[in-house]
Amino acid sequence: MSTPSGKLAVCLLASEAAPLSKTGGLADVAGALTKYLHADGHDARLFTPLYSSIDPAALAARPVAGLSGVPLALGAHRYLFSVLEAPLPGSGAPVYLIDCPALYARASLYTIEPDEHLRFIAFTRAALIACRELRFGAQIVHCNDWHTAFAPLFLRTEYGREEPLAAARAVLTIHNIGYQGIFPAADVADLGLAAGDLHLLHQEDLKAGRINALRHGILYADALTTVSPTYAREICTAEYGMGLEDDLRARAAALTGILNGVDYDEWDPRRDRFLPVHYDPQHLGGKAELKRQFLARAQLRTAPEVPLAGIVSRLAAQKGIELMFDALPKVLEARPLALAALGSGEAKYERFFAELAHSFPGRVMFEAGYDEAQSHWIEAASDLFLMPSRYEPCGLNQMYSLRYGTIPVVRRTGGLADSVQRYDAASGSGTGVVFNDFDAPALEWALNTALDLYAQPLQRARLIANGMSQDFSWQRRTGEYLEIYRRLSGG
Ligand code: ADP
Repeated sequence: MSTPSGKLAVCLLASEAAPLSKTGGLADVAGALTKYLHADGHDARLFTPLYSSIDPAALAARPVAGLSGVPLALGAHRYLFSVLEAPLPGSGAPVYLIDCPALYARASLYTIEPDEHLRFIAFTRAALIACRELRFGAQIVHCNDWHTAFAPLFLRTEYGREEPLAAARAVLTIHNIGYQGIFPAADVADLGLAAGDLHLLHQEDLKAGRINALRHGILYADALTTVSPTYAREICTAEYGMGLEDDLRARAAALTGILNGVDYDEWDPRRDRFLPVHYDPQHLGGKAELKRQFLARAQLRTAPEVPLAGIVSRLAAQKGIELMFDALPKVLEARPLALAALGSGEAKYERFFAELAHSFPGRVMFEAGYDEAQSHWIEAASDLFLMPSRYEPCGLNQMYSLRYGTIPVVRRTGGLADSVQRYDAASGSGTGVVFNDFDAPALEWALNTALDLYAQPLQRARLIANGMSQDFSWQRRTGEYLEIYRRLSGG
């Protein structure tokens, strides 16, 4: 079904897409995948909500003819939506913004309001209606996370029954199985399904009084992906599957793990726009200079040769912050070490870092909040980077750390396990320090191991050189998605 040139028509549905809107890795994947598919000559079109934080004028967005004030009825709810088209900044790929102020003009991208499920059911349907009106014969509809996970079911029950989407195959990418889009079964009419199609809903959930959006994506997508090979295996287990493990195991043959890529235009110490000095593996003096400047700015009064550990993270239980409660004070008391932490989230974690900074004045810096420039500084200036996650679908900072010559100290889970190899001092192979058990002694061991390696100039140099030579670029990952698209479309 692919065009004679072997190029594919791909419709990407994403509740957030960088650089337009972002709360996490999903935005990066949606933006980057669209950009690289477009650059490779595919007809990739991205659909995303027009949140009030997006300025259509700044994007030079134009209304799409025939898609203005389109009525959409979902149960008792009536909406009117319009579609604007704009080039994806930094790419030129077409982006279709679904404009429906009643649903997307809110203070944040996501809410805990009772119509949250409606916001994204409406978005998914509006995007598929737009494909129909645009006569966009997508061979692949690629949906992401719970927000657009009903697309495969909607294709099966409605939009796929006629042109132009009759041949469309659906791919669902799970970025984080912790968010499933569960809403009351009493709201079943909000899905807008015909009475004859209701049997396709997960009947046990319905009986239990709930509807789980992500579960329906898992049941009906033609292919499933998640953002690392290890996470793909993990989510099939009760420990990590968050109740969806049985459905995933049943579809294991359709599930592939594809590690997220890194945008090296943004994250490379050779050209990082946030840094005044640049460096590469042959010129690490630049990193030392950045560390000196950072220590002064952050009012850390340790000598330049004292190792600096960095943390940049959402402060949530997933990130394993509680392991630091015990491990960090112990290691800070026992050894020369400085720490720079940046993050925002749960109050108890913010309090922990604030108290740590108070207990170790001049050695621990904590900045509460989201600060892009500071995150680049911490990656560049630090010697070690801590990610003791309980679970981590992919994780980006460990890959940034490798490129910045900053030794990652990670727990062996999800994408961390796939992107950081345990350093073996005897053979000189490996790129970081990796620990298995989710407990404070394991993190303490890992930190001490990293400090021991750091203290040996030859081992340290080898470890850093190994890390800096790694390549996690998006160009490679796009090929892995294309392989799945081609398999499904017969192209
Ligand atoms: P998750 O999506 O679970 O938060 P990822 O590692 O996939 O974790 O992506 C997190 C991204 O957000 C990284 O690019 C990281 O640098 C960035 N980030 C997280 N917290 C902050 C912060 N407080 N300030 C700046 N950037 C942050």
